[in-house]
Order: sequence, then C-alpha cells, then structure tokens
Amino acid sequence: MHRHVKLFQHHLAPTSPEPMMLHVARAKGSYLVDIHNRRYIDLISGISVGALGHGHPAVANAIRRQLRRHLHVMVYGEFVQAPQVQLAERLLAYSPPEINCVYFVNSGSEATELAMKLAKRVTARPHIAAFGQAYHGSTQGALSLIGSPCFQEAFRPLIPGVRHLKYNDLSELAKIDRTVAAVFVEAIQAEAGCRIGSVEFFQALQARCRETGALLVVDACQTGMGRTGTFWGYESSGIQPDIILSAKALGGGLPLGAVLAARDLLKELSHRPALGHITTFGGHPLSCTAGLATLKVIEKEGLVQEAIRKETIVRHFPWPPEVREIQGRGLLLALHLPLGTNAPHLSRLAQEAGVITDWFLFRSDCLRIAPPLNIPDKILMKGLKILAQVIQKETHNQYKMEKGI
Ligand code: PMP
Repeated sequence: MHRHVKLFQHHLAPTSPEPMMLHVARAKGSYLVDIHNRRYIDLISGISVGALGHGHPAVANAIRRQLRRHLHVMVYGEFVQAPQVQLAERLLAYSPPEINCVYFVNSGSEATELAMKLAKRVTARPHIAAFGQAYHGSTQGALSLIGSPCFQEAFRPLIPGVRHLKYNDLSELAKIDRTVAAVFVEAIQAEAGCRIGSVEFFQALQARCRETGALLVVDACQTGMGRTGTFWGYESSGIQPDIILSAKALGGGLPLGAVLAARDLLKELSHRPALGHITTFGGHPLSCTAGLATLKVIEKEGLVQEAIRKETIVRHFPWPPEVREIQGRGLLLALHLPLGTNAPHLSRLAQEAGVITDWFLFRSDCLRIAPPLNIPDKILMKGLKILAQVIQKETHNQYKMEKGI
C-alpha cells in the first residue's frame, strides 16, 4: 500500500465509512489522473465547484499574477483589495438592483451563518424558517436549518427557534409569520436529488415573506455561477431574494463564500456591536482572483447557455430503463434509479470503470451528474456511456442474484 494511502487512513479524519480513495496525481480539464496514471472522467466537478474543470489556464495565470502582487494582507473589510472589489462588482451585475453589496467569507456554511446572524440582527425576530431536505452547511447554525431529523438529532442542542416547512408545499407557508426573521430556501434542493420547487411555490413564498416582513434568503451555493442555466439558479422562478448565498464555484477552485444583500442590511454588522461578523481569510485575494477569472471565462464562452445545451445531451441520452427520471436543471442533475438502489455502490463501480459520479446526502438511490460547464461533448457522452453500462450491468447482476441464477 502506498505510504500516502496509509497516512490518509491513519491521520486524516474520515467523513464517511467508505471514502472514494482516488489517489490523485493531477487533474486537467474534465479529467482526474491517479498515481497509476489512470484517467477518470469527472462528472461531478468536486461537487459543483469546478465550473471550468481543472487547471484552466486563464484561472491559473490570474492566480500566478496575484501571487506576485500579494497574498493575505489584512482581515476582511479593512483594506481595499482589487480582486475583492472587482469580483463584487461583477457578481452584483447578476443580482436584483436592491442587492448592491457583498460580504465575502470562506465557505457556504459561513455564508449561511452570517445570513442567519444578519437576519436576526436587522429584524430582531426570534425564528428562522427552512425546508425539509434542505442543506445549508455543517456548522451548528447551518445544521440547525438542515431538513433532516437524523442529522439534527445527532448534534443537539442546536440553535432554537427554527421552523421546518415542507418544500414545495404552499399550505406550509402559513408557518411563516411576523416572528420569522428569515426564510432560507434553495431554488433546486441539490442534496434531495435536485428537487425543483414550482414557480407557483416560489411566488407564494416571496409574497408571504413580503407580507410578514421575513427576509427571503436564497442559498445559491450549489446552483450558482451558471451551473443551472441561469446565473444564480433561482431566476426562472421569478422571485427577488433579499439575500443570496454563494460558495463552491464562486472561488474558481479556491475556498470562497459570499453573502449578497442591500448595503443597508449588511452595514448593520458594522455597528452595535462593531465587528458583528469578522473573518480573517474571508475574501482571500487568491480566491477572489480565481473567482473573477472563472466568471470572465463563463461570460466569454457563454457557459451559462452551455449548461442548458448540455442538460439536453444528458436528458436525451439513451439511458437504460433503470434511470426512472432525471431531475434538476442545467448541469446539476440527478439520475433517479429504482428505490432501494445502492447508488454509493454504483458510484464505486463507476469509479472502477473510469467515471467519477456521486450520490446525494438525502438520496442514496440517485446518481449525481454535475460535470464542468465546459466539458467537451465527446467526453461528456463517453462518461454517460460508461455510467449507463455500469447501471445496466449492476442491475442485471442484482437481478441474477435475486433469481439465484
Ligand atoms: N449550501 C448548499 C446549497 C450547499 O450545497 C453547500 C455545500 N454542499 C453548502 C451550503 C455549504 O457549503 P460549504 O461546504 O462550503 O460550507
């Protein structure tokens, strides 16, 4: 066994009983290469991070240039740093006009934490609403919003005052009242197998928030940066959030999160008390540089539209009948397999066959398709073909086992 594998097993804390264990040597474009020089087609982009795949030259060059200028110089919010202001300006161009200010943090979880604090601070209300099967991060505040009793039970006591509503269910919206500071929602619930709320649901949600004064927080950490065929992922529902959360692809492969809101709201964190939220590395110049370079390529190469075009390729692919349904939008898709399917097992078989896919936190019967937005059609088709063969072969094997053949 390679020394690094042994060290991984002994010294790195595990997050799951059976890690994927791909021993990465390098990564380029839509391929990962292991230390045995084996290539794998990356159909998940490090869980919706690598919008441009791996090692895009525009991003690498921008990072190199910034490396020569400066790295960390001060905690967030004090010094004027070109990468931060340029990225903020560009991101805000994609947001509703009322949203004119960005607070950069390090991750999606921290963005959630900040938004929870902000909502309580500006409304002085005690409750927060979130939805079943939602995922907003793993820190204590974000975990309090998670739509899974099993995750919550393990880590009690969590933050009090969280109301969980059924997603996409209009009758639940009455639970949003004048004591609710904010409602956190994903336009596409990625970890629920890419479930999409209806336009009607989102419109009613927005109306209820306006009526009660609750802030509408859209978590676009996974759907954003064009992955779902619009910039943030909520646009097709016609709503206007008060706060947008971003992370994952935002940093172009480096850690970065952001909370976007009206300056009038965000400035509340700067007084009573001053420094109401502080972060040492939030908005790191390298991360903002990589994010900005990524955004420029997304724009130049029309990758938001590409996400839609490639969704069609995935949907029209001749899948075996075991793929019952494909949910999601753009290049954030879930192959829904028969209930009871062991998708983690399938995903291991796919890895052996040279394709990286994954399952979802709340759906272990679905496989994840979230390749780089710029994946060439040919590589995408090749990856889908291998995946289809794995699904078909494994289901056939299972059938034989069940029949004792
Ligand atoms: N929100 C959503 C919708 C996410 O998908 C994730 C990450 N899977 C997060 C928040 C948390 O982001 P991070 O892992 O960067 O803390």
